[in-house]
Amino acid sequence: MDLLLRGGTLVTCDARDTVLEGDLLVQGGRIAAVGPKAARAALRPARVIDARGCAVIPGIVQAHVHLCQVLFRGMADDLPLLSWLRERIWPLEAAHDEKSLRASAELGLLEAMSAGTTTLLDMGTVHGYDAVLDACVRAGVRVVGGKAMMDTGQGVPRGLYETTRASLDESERLCRDWHGHASGRVGYAFAPRFVLSCSEALVRGAVQRAEAANAHVHSHVAEHPSEREAVRAALGRDDVDVLRAWGVRGPRAVLAHGVQLTDDEARGVARDGTRIVHCPSANLKLGSGIARVAELDALGVALALGCDGAPCNNNLDPWQELRHAALLAKTRTGPSALPARRALRLITIDGANALGLGSEIGSLEVGKRADVAVVRVDGPHVEPGGDVFSRLVYAAKSSDVRHVLVDGELVVHAGEHTRLDAEAVLARARSMAKTVATRAGL
Ligand SMILES: [Zn+2]
Repeated sequence: MDLLLRGGTLVTCDARDTVLEGDLLVQGGRIAAVGPKAARAALRPARVIDARGCAVIPGIVQAHVHLCQVLFRGMADDLPLLSWLRERIWPLEAAHDEKSLRASAELGLLEAMSAGTTTLLDMGTVHGYDAVLDACVRAGVRVVGGKAMMDTGQGVPRGLYETTRASLDESERLCRDWHGHASGRVGYAFAPRFVLSCSEALVRGAVQRAEAANAHVHSHVAEHPSEREAVRAALGRDDVDVLRAWGVRGPRAVLAHGVQLTDDEARGVARDGTRIVHCPSANLKLGSGIARVAELDALGVALALGCDGAPCNNNLDPWQELRHAALLAKTRTGPSALPARRALRLITIDGANALGLGSEIGSLEVGKRADVAVVRVDGPHVEPGGDVFSRLVYAAKSSDVRHVLVDGELVVHAGEHTRLDAEAVLARARSMAKTVATRAGL
């Protein structure tokens, strides 16, 4: 059945940032018409969703999350990055099983999708990644993801350590089973975790396999000053240079953080077309610093935005992330940096481009897949002033999201997830979080 979003402000995020008043028509999972005359194009009986008082925007793309860590929210506060990893996150990840992974992913999906997220780039833990991808397919989200790869490094628990061969084989098996699955809503990303936990053979092997399968490579880079020192001590160079030398470069490579990138490094990243995902809340909470987003943007670095993990944020709320990105850019560079119109593109078309999906999603254009969020922009915390970009970036909250479509399916309707049972997801998450913490000895 056709679906008509009627009477909203359509923020298309197309090349000219066109804004239209009118309707958006969905046919066969794709956008069939946009604008004042869209309703006339509806041939079959259309389901009509009232979008008056709302902005209709492209579905939000979060280009760096860890669904496996959602269960650990609040269990690793107020620690520096490397202790955060070695003392809490790794032992907790090692204590996961299939049931707890599924519970973790479902809670993250409930939160992120209800806030308007339609696409995620996810990094899993080492084992059990099928459960996470299966949870994504059942929840109806679009996902690019892969298991974390770790074959070396200090403080890696036995449960997460794997041989180079086993890591490559399991990643390749997952890619074979999942890449292109669920009508193309699942993509695979080979995920060498970060340079300190990966050998050269592992990273090179991951890149080779990603190229062969036309998949992504997803890692972390230049996050924290202390990590930078540890990388220099271990490898004699910065992680971005090491990864680049090992083949992690170009549009296939999506790297989270980039807080510590120098101008020279940023120019290299821009030349290569490597993607950098800004995660401002996680960078603030772990004391990593503030990425120079406006400067990176000016240097031509392809940027996107992500919430990172629940234990270092502690939300998977893209609206907070968007607001932080815009405000922090002004703190670093001045109040004109990253204006609202520019910032909104970070969570829409830029995110889509970062995942190689820019021709299919990321803007409201006829022929694209109908990944859409309908967001109230007439609440007391938003009215009365400002254009729709100002309202969305500086004033709107995740609770303003009313409806969310993925491939034309209403996955969130009137604020309620249509596929996930919120109460059941919460109950399972509470119970499994205790189980995993006990197993991890925390
Ligand atoms: Zn991360």
